[in-house]
Amino acid sequence: MKIMQNRMDRGFYQYQKEFESKALEVLRSGWYILGKEVTTFEEEFAAYTGGKYCVGLASGLDALWIAFRLLNIGNGDEVIVQGNTYIASVMGITMNGATPVFVEPDESFGIDVDKIEEKITDKTKAILVVHLYGMASRMDQVVELCKKYDLRLVEDCAQSHGACFKGQMTGTFGDVGCFSFYPSKNLGGFGDGGAVVVKDEQLAKDFKVFRNYGSEKRYYNKVVGANSRLDELQAGLLRVRLRHMRELTEEKEKIAASYSAGIHNNKISLPKLADGATSVWHQYVVRCEDRESLIDYLNKKDIGTIIHYPIPPHLAQAYESLGHKEGFLPVTEYLANTVLSIPMYNGMTREEQDYVIDALNSFK
Ligand SMILES: *Cc1c(COP(=O)(O)O)cnc(C)c1O
Repeated sequence: MKIMQNRMDRGFYQYQKEFESKALEVLRSGWYILGKEVTTFEEEFAAYTGGKYCVGLASGLDALWIAFRLLNIGNGDEVIVQGNTYIASVMGITMNGATPVFVEPDESFGIDVDKIEEKITDKTKAILVVHLYGMASRMDQVVELCKKYDLRLVEDCAQSHGACFKGQMTGTFGDVGCFSFYPSKNLGGFGDGGAVVVKDEQLAKDFKVFRNYGSEKRYYNKVVGANSRLDELQAGLLRVRLRHMRELTEEKEKIAASYSAGIHNNKISLPKLADGATSVWHQYVVRCEDRESLIDYLNKKDIGTIIHYPIPPHLAQAYESLGHKEGFLPVTEYLANTVLSIPMYNGMTREEQDYVIDALNSFK
């Protein structure tokens, strides 16, 4: 049996007819940018998250950098972020000239809330929380710290559509929740896409103006903006997937539950949720000190794996100028050397799950 780490085609075939008929509908409509599909998706997605306003954008990275831009966070400002994240989180900060200040993660892969306060300085303007792998981070202390020090709170929800902390959906705790609809994400499109969820009406308007060259009215440009629009075709297809998010998330929860119940190997540690948090299992990430042998072993059994992520942002060549050396974030670096994402996708069969479980259990 050959099992890839992810199978995006399965997710398409689950609702093939609905996707195809929506695609044809949009193609035949004669209207492709900023129309009724985007507006309706924005309403539906805001309602889904329990947030107030949603604005569709071209990608998750755009959601992040435009968020910091519109919150006036740039040159000379510091933003606190966890060390173990996808590099896009950090680029969203540095694209505006602000400096990322890294905090180590806790045992649930989220920011270690007990290590934030010591990093707050006069220059700190915001905290960026990343709900990594689909697991909601512990939010109550973060929200308190933001109040205490008057900081902005931005959430990177690119992997956490639908995940909750104490019953509240990620993306609705702070000023801006940033989402990606890259095809492999839990709410994935068929190309690039992103969105923000915000509480403040004026901020929502600012995003709408900014994404369209800074214009509210065509050819009357108020600010220097960007071209960052979610297109009609993606929005229409995302609406189809969004209708099924509950069952898609439940399906992933079941796969995760069967992994957590079935995998017993003292060389492999399983993911652990923070108290009060749920996960939508964007990835199921195990840890193994002997990771290279495990990858080889699984490869021989035709099981695909991916490392999310082998090089933490502070050690990436792109961020050499920050001057951080190996050993600067030991927990982050330890995770980068031991984490492994095993197969996890909608449409994964029971046989495939059992095959993966048996393989992990027989690894010595
Ligand atoms: C995917 C991802 C992004 C970026 O989203 P794009 O739509 O690819 O730009 C940002 N942060 C995290 C944590 C991600 O996983």
